[in-house]
Amino acid sequence: MAFESLTDRLQVAMSKLKKKGTVKEEDVKDMMREIRLALLEADVNLQVVRGFVKSVGERAVGVEILESLNPTQQIVKVVDEELTKVLGSEAVGLNKSPKIPTIVMMVGLQGAGKTTFTGKISNFLKQNEKARPLLIAADVYRPAAVDQLKVIGQQLDIPVFEMGTDVDPVEIVRQGLEQAKENKNDYVFIDTAGRLHIDETLMDELKRIKDFAQPNDILLTVDAMTGQDAVTVAQSFDEQLDVTGVVLTKLDGDTRGGAALSIRAITGKPIKFIGTGEKLTDIEVFHPDRMSSRILGMGDMLTLIEKAQKEYDEEKAEELAQKMRENSFDFNDFIEQLDQVMGMGPLEDLIKMIPGMNNVPGLDQLQVDPKDVARKKAIVFSMTPEERENPDLLNPSRRRRIAAGSGNSVVEVNRMIKQFNESRKMMQQMTKGNMPAGLENMMG
Ligand code: GDP
Repeated sequence: MAFESLTDRLQVAMSKLKKKGTVKEEDVKDMMREIRLALLEADVNLQVVRGFVKSVGERAVGVEILESLNPTQQIVKVVDEELTKVLGSEAVGLNKSPKIPTIVMMVGLQGAGKTTFTGKISNFLKQNEKARPLLIAADVYRPAAVDQLKVIGQQLDIPVFEMGTDVDPVEIVRQGLEQAKENKNDYVFIDTAGRLHIDETLMDELKRIKDFAQPNDILLTVDAMTGQDAVTVAQSFDEQLDVTGVVLTKLDGDTRGGAALSIRAITGKPIKFIGTGEKLTDIEVFHPDRMSSRILGMGDMLTLIEKAQKEYDEEKAEELAQKMRENSFDFNDFIEQLDQVMGMGPLEDLIKMIPGMNNVPGLDQLQVDPKDVARKKAIVFSMTPEERENPDLLNPSRRRRIAAGSGNSVVEVNRMIKQFNESRKMMQQMTKGNMPAGLENMMG
């Protein structure tokens, strides 16, 4: 995942303060020096680094922090707030047209991920708003581009308007827009040509399309992996076309993060969406505050919660919470929970989003082992229905029977029951409003 080394370095810089009882001006200066280096190393634009360090520094050595009761928490808060500002403060969605269709023109260099993103965003709207988009294939230079868009359209069951590669792109757009009006499509995405480098012919063509289509949004796709180059590219496109927003792709790679952190500040244009993988579902709305927390290693609780909610059946969750309150959580619930956790994808990804868990050593080795889950299930299935509902019935002779029945040793059965009892205890504490000691420390 992107930002890993930046996150590590920022955490080191800030954790030095945590060890101190009171924070002196000198300590803050030391920390700022380290933050500055960390950002430069992450390939953040120099101008952006200067601005950021200056605003954090001013607030940090000012009364705000030195006089506060808990200076380290205040510093983390200030760094988080300033970083959120650099990233753009608020999430910005598409500019919607008051009457349909909303026209979105996609621009960007070849290979940035423009065509893939055109598929991602139209699918996103189809899923979330029941939208009926039309995609227009207006990249007539790369013959494969039209086919690529058609394939994506077929995969997503979204119509693609194309006229091959021998027609002027403005004409293609004209006819495509006519079709959208006839079919009452609510969104139109125009996939335009890219080049390996910016050139005048390309820009002229894009300007002609823009003048004709009068798009509500001109989204520039840039590849986060290209670092500072992404910023330069964004600047030139913006000067020529006055883009309305940026899409940052390939944030799943090990980009150092410089582009993400510089583009908004340098171009003044919001990052609206991010691409986080090659699959057509790997798209996220860009939330500056969440991204900041993620970069600072404070986790991304909201994304985590959203992800969990998608997998989680609300009624079942409420039922479960009720059982925890009544302390009637039993082995049947345990199995249900195991199944839900398995459905949420690699646990390692989820855990990384939890505050403080980002740099826990050994996290990489942490995975839910399907075999282990299967073993736990086998043990539970060897219990009688009565035992499943009444975990406290499990005396040694019952445990021996269960071990034999499930093909496990008594030691394994005991271990699994112990785990079950521990999680039951922890859940009870949490529902009573007491964080278990470990978690409380992690939250800072
Ligand atoms: P275009 O030339 O700008 O239209 O770029 P494409 O859409 O053809 O994408 C170029 C390559 O980047 C393809 O191999 C895509 O699968 C890949 N790609 C696009 N977006 C992402 C992303 O968010 N993450 C990753 N890892 N790969 C991506």
